[in-house]
Amino acid sequence: MSRFAIGIDLGGTQVRAALVDEHGKIHQRLEERTDAEAGPDRVLGQIGGLTERLRSACDSSAVVGLGVSAPGPLDTELGIALDIPTLRGFSNYPLREELQTRLRLPVSLENDGIAAAIGEWQFGAGLGLRNLVYVTVSTGIGGGVIADGRILRGRKGMAGHVGHMSIVPDGLVCSCGGKGCFEAYASGTAFTKRARARIAECEETSLAHIGDVLDSRSVFAAAESGDRLANDLVDEEADILGRGFTSLIHIFSPEIVIMGGGLSQQFDRLQAGIQAHVERCAMPAFRDVGVVSAALGQNSGLVGAAALAFLPRRSAAES
Ligand SMILES: [Zn+2]
Repeated sequence: MSRFAIGIDLGGTQVRAALVDEHGKIHQRLEERTDAEAGPDRVLGQIGGLTERLRSACDSSAVVGLGVSAPGPLDTELGIALDIPTLRGFSNYPLREELQTRLRLPVSLENDGIAAAIGEWQFGAGLGLRNLVYVTVSTGIGGGVIADGRILRGRKGMAGHVGHMSIVPDGLVCSCGGKGCFEAYASGTAFTKRARARIAECEETSLAHIGDVLDSRSVFAAAESGDRLANDLVDEEADILGRGFTSLIHIFSPEIVIMGGGLSQQFDRLQAGIQAHVERCAMPAFRDVGVVSAALGQNSGLVGAAALAFLPRRSAAES
């Protein structure tokens, strides 16, 4: 009989749920808007409702567990949400225990960057590899690392917050309150912000008339149609991503770096610039490390969360 797991991707905007089999195949996928202001009781009710719908879609005894991916930091050893800025009331909240009590299923909890790394490692672009770094480039920047064939979790399970690696001394202020973080320069948000500032200074660009609706997609579209400023902005973004990825390549010596998140939809345009930075700036022995896009697209975290239910339990504390 096939076994299934339920993956939950809890975000500040959407809560997604999927019924996933042992081969990483999604059999059913549901999502709804997160009631982010309503507090944990309501949000757990949403997760419970989605889980029940998925359980009733298969033989419910075939569901071996539930994995939850959430923005952190989470202490995944204790199963506690330390502070989720985008969800009201999730400060020092015992998320794993509460879900286990409500749903009567074994629950695993993972920081979202690590969950997505697991998804790509088990079923996506990193299949069969022993060393990889996954980086999500979206509103913010997150990540996860697989090293020596194991998931790198670090103290409290919080390893891989690669967006807060500092790349500029005393640089731009980051969402974390720090200065000069990789996220403050290379995230989708940072890219759009830089574009706005440069459009205001530039006299000849087709982007000047877009105004408030400008987003990263409009910059890539303008670049495609030959706009010089847009192409400069995109090249610069690729170069900054390449800078961060080069540091990660030096630190973890991965076989590949996998880029996911919203901005990876433009990966084809960014790849050459990112790879050129790695080839120019990495130490010679690291220059052949490839940067690829996530194979599971927006589902890396969802599938990775479900995969937790199939992986060996990590410790007695998580039973
Ligand atoms: Zn930061």
